[in-house]
Amino acid sequence: MSDCIFCKIAEHEIPSDIVYEDDKICVYNDIAPQAPVHALMIPRKHIASLDDVTVEDQELLGYMLSKVSDIVKILGIENGYRVVSNNGDNAQQTVKHMHLHILGNRKFTWPPG
Ligand code: 5GP
Ligand code: ZN
Repeated sequence: MSDCIFCKIAEHEIPSDIVYEDDKICVYNDIAPQAPVHALMIPRKHIASLDDVTVEDQELLGYMLSKVSDIVKILGIENGYRVVSNNGDNAQQTVKHMHLHILGNRKFTWPPG
């Protein structure tokens, strides 16, 4: 999608600190980290939010989750981590390209804020 910042990152049109990429996903460090390690995993396909996922995306979303533990190792996260996806206004989704936050190397609280 032409005016989407995360699509532009995945296409290397905007610089970012990419830690992993393949033909389906791109993972890069968050510009405003909320933990010592904070990366974002996006599908290369533009999907605005989980509300926009269709049955055609089953394999892609399964692939994303299957890659999390590999990415956690690449990022050097130890002793647990949190995976978050903000969707919609109440969750304060700010970028309308579906993504997983992968946060680690600190103790998290529950419930989240
Ligand atoms: P959301 O608020 O939609 O769940 O998450 C969007 C995330 O994208 C935020 O954590 C924000 O810091 C991050 N972000 C926004 N713009 C950029 C950018 O240009 N580069 C990178 N690396 N992260 C970004
Ligand atoms: Zn996009």
